[in-house]
Amino acid sequence: MAGILIIAEHRQGALRPVTAELVAGAQPLRAALGGRVQLVVVGKGCRALEPGLAIEGVDEIVFIETPEAEFDAETWERAVAAACTQFEPRLVLVSHGIDSMGFAPALALRCGYGFATDVFGLAVADGAVVATRAGYGGKVVVELGFRQGAVLLTLRPGTYKPASAAAAAPAAREFVFAAPASRTRNLRFIEPPASGDIDMTAADFILSVGRGVGEQDHIERFRALTDRIGFALGCSRPVADSGWLPKSRQIGQSGRTASQCKLYIAMGISGAIQHLAGMKHVDTIIAVNTDPNASIFSVARYGVVGDMFEIADELEKQFE
Ligand SMILES: Cc1cc2nc3c(=O)[nH]c(=O)nc-3n(C[C@H](O)[C@H](O)[C@H](O)COP(=O)(O)OP(=O)(O)OC[C@H]3O[C@@H](n4cnc5c(N)ncnc54)[C@H](O)[C@@H]3O)c2cc1C
Repeated sequence: MAGILIIAEHRQGALRPVTAELVAGAQPLRAALGGRVQLVVVGKGCRALEPGLAIEGVDEIVFIETPEAEFDAETWERAVAAACTQFEPRLVLVSHGIDSMGFAPALALRCGYGFATDVFGLAVADGAVVATRAGYGGKVVVELGFRQGAVLLTLRPGTYKPASAAAAAPAAREFVFAAPASRTRNLRFIEPPASGDIDMTAADFILSVGRGVGEQDHIERFRALTDRIGFALGCSRPVADSGWLPKSRQIGQSGRTASQCKLYIAMGISGAIQHLAGMKHVDTIIAVNTDPNASIFSVARYGVVGDMFEIADELEKQFE
């Protein structure tokens, strides 16, 4: 038992970007788990997706042809189970979403695998696969160690920056699978209404304000500042809960993950673990806080112990 099997997600003939995130999440574990990183693509005519599957870090693509083009829970469960029996991976990664909710628990049971959902951290420690997820309704962060046997994890979208495109496509093979007659039929897709707000998961530069902003009237000033310096304005949960900024701007465990972010400025944010869950992976974090002991400084590359309003004054002057 070795290696990592990643289940590609696609819909209506298009590969979903989360597939490259799963590949990125697998990379730090591959040396410890040994074996290959295989990308499994299930569906009718799934080979048509091949041009988009040249992703850095994939050793082999496995196509499993099925009668249905679109997702079908039972078919996927059986198809991936067959691939698992054949390849005996140590770890199987699936995107945490509506599809995986339909087939991943049954797949884990069928294969006798360890299982955890909505994982936002992956590691290997002392030979155990360690999955980080929230517990007790999100009140604590839990690390689950799977010491032996294979493990199936559904990974929260937006946790990892997508792996880059590879110069050349990896080797591909077709895996023959006798699909059961499907008991469900895909009738149509209904797009969710657009929120009309910015997608924080796609923002390169984010300046987030926390409770230190004090009152709603101060928000406008930071909105103007972020517009001027080309940042997206994010926030911590108390700011969103107060209705000062829309929920779609909240960064953290119950908000958005700053998955594409290159520079994150946290102003007046204490650094609770639930906030860190959405941004601590960002390469460059600048924290501004009046409290020198604020936890946010533990993840910041640069820290300013000071008043966020004075720093805002200075930025406004610099970017006049
Ligand atoms: C299930 C669950 C899910 C959660 N999900 C999220 C989530 O997704 N995102 C999230 O953010 N939180 C989340 N939380 C809430 C989280 O636990 C914290 O309560 C929250 O992150 C605190 O927000 P804050 O840092 O803005 O406020 P506080 O913790 O009150 O910190 C305010 C900070 O501002 C500083 N400050 C005050 N005035 C100034 C000033 N003038 N200049 C500079 N600094 C100043 C203070 O020193 C302090 O450190 C969740 C909680 C639970 C239970």
